[in-house]
Amino acid sequence: MLRWDEGNTVTKPVPPPVVMNGAGGAVGVEDVEMGASRIRVDDKKIINCRADLNQLVPFKYTWAWDKYLAACSNHWMPQEINMSADIALWKDLHGLTPDERVIVKRSLGYFSTADSLVANNLVLAVYRHITNPECRQYLLRQAFEEALHTHAYQYVIQSLGMDEAEVFNMYREIPSVHDKAAFALPFTQELCDPDFKTGAPQSDQRLLRNLIGFYVITEGIFFYVGFVQMLSFGRRNKMVGASEQFQYILRDESMHMNFGIDVINQIKLENPHLWTPAFQQEIAALIRQGVELEYRYALDTMPRGVLGLNAAMFGDYLKFIANRRCAQIGLAEQYPGAANPFPWMSEVLDLHKEKNFFETRVIEYQSGGALSWD
Ligand code: FE
Repeated sequence: MLRWDEGNTVTKPVPPPVVMNGAGGAVGVEDVEMGASRIRVDDKKIINCRADLNQLVPFKYTWAWDKYLAACSNHWMPQEINMSADIALWKDLHGLTPDERVIVKRSLGYFSTADSLVANNLVLAVYRHITNPECRQYLLRQAFEEALHTHAYQYVIQSLGMDEAEVFNMYREIPSVHDKAAFALPFTQELCDPDFKTGAPQSDQRLLRNLIGFYVITEGIFFYVGFVQMLSFGRRNKMVGASEQFQYILRDESMHMNFGIDVINQIKLENPHLWTPAFQQEIAALIRQGVELEYRYALDTMPRGVLGLNAAMFGDYLKFIANRRCAQIGLAEQYPGAANPFPWMSEVLDLHKEKNFFETRVIEYQSGGALSWD
């Protein structure tokens, strides 16, 4: 049993040495200095910041705080979505075609691992090196959303009575799923190296490459064949619960990507020497490789046309979204002239319509979550 007076008699433990972080020298766990001067906006820097990281205000990056607030007001939970129609359809042997079943399984297999890779990257690799408290506030919210997404996949897998081991091992057993995970993992591994520090151009470029690898390629390209496929079920009134789960996830993910793009552009703005022509070429090559891997995933999950979709349409779509991602981070479009075969996806992402679509549930959630003292 715990005793609250024990602290009076026990010797105070010696704190471990402070971990320093490259030239910036700050990760937020430095000693507390009495009487130190208050932080000013101009002291803040997105990477390699020397100022106190424990003072949220004054805000410098209001876009990060705004996204944190928007993410909180979009709160949702997987169990709020009714899965009974999906369960009936999945258990009906003639409910879905074999090709449709493959898509549902592959989506859950890829996303369940990918969202956990993203969460690990945030917590184990990125957080430490983004030296700004308002950005960290968003990263903390994002990390929780990644946990919610993994929760949502598990909830669907369990509701449908799927073979859990088969789904969660897909990234080790199905090449098109494996290759996307294997592309992303090294970005995390290189920043997890205990000797890795930011503060030199080469290591700052490694951090930028990690951010582009996850926010632009994993969350911005690798998720999109699955998003279109799962939303197409819902548009045909099939697997409506799973499709709705993916709509919520898509809304969160598009915010993650936009936050990541803001971070990438802010790092470029503050450190223009990192964005060399050679580095831009390296990034463009990675994006093209991401498009190839995602196209192979489309071919693997759709050997024949299904749900009004086919792999060739995804060839165009992936080039179209890759061009948009390139433009957002200031790279030349890699596939000039690529057209969007799924204009309805832009409508799903349109903020105004999205808000109306989700309004009821968000309002219900906010009032349901209020405390009452009576
Ligand atoms: Fe995400």
